[in-house]
Amino acid sequence: MDTTTEHAATVWAPDIAAAAPRELCTDCGISRSSDPKRCGHACQFIKPRYADLEARVHGRARDPARPDELHFGPFRRMVRARLADPKPGAQWTGITTTIGERLLETGAVDAVLTMAPDPDDAWRPKPVIVTRAEGMAHCRGMRMGYAPLLALLEPARARGFKRLAVIGIPCQVYALRELESELGLERLYVIGTPCSDNTTTENFHTFLALLSEDPSTITYLEFRADYHVELRFIDGRRKEIPFLMLPLSKLPPDFFPMTCRTCVDYTNVLADITVGYMGGEGQQWLLVRNERGEELLSLLGDRIITEAPGTRGNRTSPVKGFLKNVELAAGGLPLRSMPNWLRPIMGWLMPKIGPRGLEFARARVEMKAIETVLHLRRAHPRRMKTMIPDHVWQLVERYGLTKAPGE
Ligand SMILES: Cc1cc2nc3c(=O)[nH]c(=O)nc-3n(C[C@H](O)[C@H](O)[C@H](O)COP(=O)(O)OP(=O)(O)OC[C@H]3O[C@@H](n4cnc5c(N)ncnc54)[C@H](O)[C@@H]3O)c2cc1C
Ligand code: SF4
Ligand code: SF4
Repeated sequence: MDTTTEHAATVWAPDIAAAAPRELCTDCGISRSSDPKRCGHACQFIKPRYADLEARVHGRARDPARPDELHFGPFRRMVRARLADPKPGAQWTGITTTIGERLLETGAVDAVLTMAPDPDDAWRPKPVIVTRAEGMAHCRGMRMGYAPLLALLEPARARGFKRLAVIGIPCQVYALRELESELGLERLYVIGTPCSDNTTTENFHTFLALLSEDPSTITYLEFRADYHVELRFIDGRRKEIPFLMLPLSKLPPDFFPMTCRTCVDYTNVLADITVGYMGGEGQQWLLVRNERGEELLSLLGDRIITEAPGTRGNRTSPVKGFLKNVELAAGGLPLRSMPNWLRPIMGWLMPKIGPRGLEFARARVEMKAIETVLHLRRAHPRRMKTMIPDHVWQLVERYGLTKAPGE
């Protein structure tokens, strides 16, 4: 069934032009716009200006007196959260799409720009403009891959929509913030999700095929903060696989594109509110970054239950182990592998002894920063000087990774 047609009254998928060829590119949509040259100053993969944009969007830079801001970007408060009445089909409880729903219901925006499942492949994201609250239900859930979200800005404008909300991943939100002042909008709300280890939808299907004999029956996948991947199937079955038991060694070396190995913003630091799960210990994890983010959260009223996030364990040794493995992989050597008999034991032990809550989120952000430095050093050393912001260097410093001359 063509689900986009089915939802045509509330969800609009305009035709989008072809992408211009670019080297490091996640096709955020700017190369498909009427002025593709804007990639030159909008792109996260060229010369990102995080410190400047954070100060402009949030009114201040990261505060060294608030140590978690080095990892997660500026925020007013962090909470662990869930909707009291979780939404069917949502990735977690549906906070993200319910914020979109409330913005449309209350008339705060004319439209929400986000992703729906592609009618031909439910795992493929398809950029859509949602104009009525009911349409947000169709967008629930996570899809793997990237699609040209920002190519929707011009069709939205042509329809006269001047008050917009955009739900996006960090590389999309970066370009949006760079171009925000040129868009002629009266109001813009940005709801961000963290993002890491993304890949093309095609590659993701290869991964699904390693997890099940009938991958077409998998409807849900999540890398949970308790070191398990959760799968859900069409017939309602669920399966949990410890990270250490995943068939990662069977994936081709280029499974993760260079963009997603080297991008420098895990937690969507330029969003008004970030909706993730990493620091949530089994629940969702929100970072309210500015006044507009507070406004977005308040739209949920008593539908949302919040509490202070917890933190347990020590990330140092898992992050050091990760660094060693990335060094070997980046140097072309096989990954240091764990003997097969030890894997189930460690898979059982990790959720009990590994870092949890905020400490887990800090570990993941540091791991991503390590990947950025080591993969760029190997594949694109000349890009390091402009592509790696200072905060990334500060994150890797405690593991002995420092700038070499020219970096
Ligand atoms: C590729 C990817 C990797 C992620 N990795 C992490 C992670 O490592 N740690 C973490 O804390 N969170 C991660 N997230 C975010 C996590 O999945 C969100 O916390 C979750 O989607 C929000 O849950 P929810 O129930 O509120 O969302 P829902 O209410 O179900 O809404 C999900 C929203 O995400 C949008 N969306 C879905 N797929 C995509 C996509 N491919 N590109 C752009 N937008 C999309 C949908 O259109 C929808 O608006 C990732 C998200 C993606 C897309
Ligand atoms: S990611 Fe976006 S801004 Fe960067 S090159 Fe691709 S289309 Fe252009
Ligand atoms: S991992 Fe980074 S580059 Fe890749 S899609 Fe996510 S935010 Fe974009």
